[in-house]
Amino acid sequence: MTKALFLDDSYLKEADAAVVSVKDGKYIVLDRTIFYARGGGQPHDGGKMVKGDEVYNVVYVGKFEGEISHEIDHSGLSEGDEVHLVLDWERRYKLMRSHTAAHVVASLLNQGTGALITGNQIEVDYVRFDFSLENYNRTVLEGYLAKANKLFSTDTAVKSYYLPREEALKVPGVIKMAGALPPDIPVLRIVEIVGVDKQADGGTHVKNLREVGNVELVKTENKGKSNRRIYFKLSS
Ligand SMILES: [Zn+2]
Repeated sequence: MTKALFLDDSYLKEADAAVVSVKDGKYIVLDRTIFYARGGGQPHDGGKMVKGDEVYNVVYVGKFEGEISHEIDHSGLSEGDEVHLVLDWERRYKLMRSHTAAHVVASLLNQGTGALITGNQIEVDYVRFDFSLENYNRTVLEGYLAKANKLFSTDTAVKSYYLPREEALKVPGVIKMAGALPPDIPVLRIVEIVGVDKQADGGTHVKNLREVGNVELVKTENKGKSNRRIYFKLSS
């Protein structure tokens, strides 16, 4: 099993790794990685693998049969090769800021309205939320984003740690997604925004709310009687 270094240090921008397997010349499994695989509403990372003078661009990272698989842009790597990994940090850092922002906004919406999040997707340029709420309007939503922005101007720590499944499931609000159960594993990773939110989560986050900056509403949509969709983004 690949060691997912980003789970314990989301700020790792480079690392050395060994190639464990190669499929069809371009699907690479490593012994350890800094690249996040698409999942949990967060897109995959980009970057490159370097072996000597040869640079392989990482164009997609996915999880297949439980393994993190890196798709590279051309063949040439073999099992046992030592490679140097370099993350596309600009892309990742935006995703980290957006992911942490998404937890804060979801938590405020949930606490304020009781609405359950029914879907969410973080992209490099925006965050999309679906939630069930009958009575709402743009002003109300902007109010929640303003509250979130206030939190983003405070020194609030974001921590991640592990809890036994039983204990984790007792934490109020640890599951924010309607109908979502965490993976069937004995130990869950918890992302805690101190005083704001605790969730079972496998994503990459900033370590202080100040790093998020500001968010702003992009647009809202009605997707049925009580199904709302909002788009918001980092202001810069
Ligand atoms: Zn999350």
